[in-house]
Amino acid sequence: MGSDAQNGSAGGSGIRVAEGSGVCFGVRRALRLAETALESGEAVYCLGPLIHNPQEMERLAGKGFRVIESLDEAGGGGRLLIRSHGLQPGVVAEARGRGLEIIDATCPLVRRVQTLAVELQEAGDRVIVAGDAPHPEVRAIRGHAPAAVVVNDVEAVRRLALSGRVALVAQTTFSPGAFRDMAAALRERDLEEVRVEDTICAATVERQRGAADLAGHVDVMFVIGGRNSANTNRLAELCAAR
Ligand code: SF4
Repeated sequence: MGSDAQNGSAGGSGIRVAEGSGVCFGVRRALRLAETALESGEAVYCLGPLIHNPQEMERLAGKGFRVIESLDEAGGGGRLLIRSHGLQPGVVAEARGRGLEIIDATCPLVRRVQTLAVELQEAGDRVIVAGDAPHPEVRAIRGHAPAAVVVNDVEAVRRLALSGRVALVAQTTFSPGAFRDMAAALRERDLEEVRVEDTICAATVERQRGAADLAGHVDVMFVIGGRNSANTNRLAELCAAR
């Protein structure tokens, strides 16, 4: 972000842009992979939108990018791009079985959560995912580590029946404050071991901090993003709370 003057806020009025705004590297990478795949002129399928930005999705659709709800819509082979949220291994296997070539655009930070969840589960830990169970990223994590339990607030953590060793990981866009509360609630319990792996994405933290800071210093705050985006909704909540 530039200075206030660059953002048109010199003299106390104008438009200011929050620190960390814009498309994160994981989504930029997925867009780049999609663009490269589309160069051949063949259709590229994707289970759900690649980015929660209707204009960008429309532009990609013009090049042959097809958003589908189910693999049944990807008739007769072609390519399936896994978006930055990742995908359940079972769905990937089914796609391969249907003759679809896989282009994996899972964000490396999301991949890290998946890998950690698998390793912790295999090591005998009860894996807890701080996140929203219906979110595609969380569904993909659970696809990799099916025994993991998903909770989205500290009260849910307190209600969990737990014993032995537990490990806490987070959906990459989860609230850092809520994650800390959940970790503290686990540590208060009588458990053999509590391992906390903060897997929240730094780009998300930076974006949330920048938006919340700016919201406290302006008269009107606009959060521009997709209504169905977890990131956008979290930013709107944080700004509204200021
Ligand atoms: S984990 Fe972070 S960098 Fe990766 S896609 Fe999500 S917000 Fe973007």
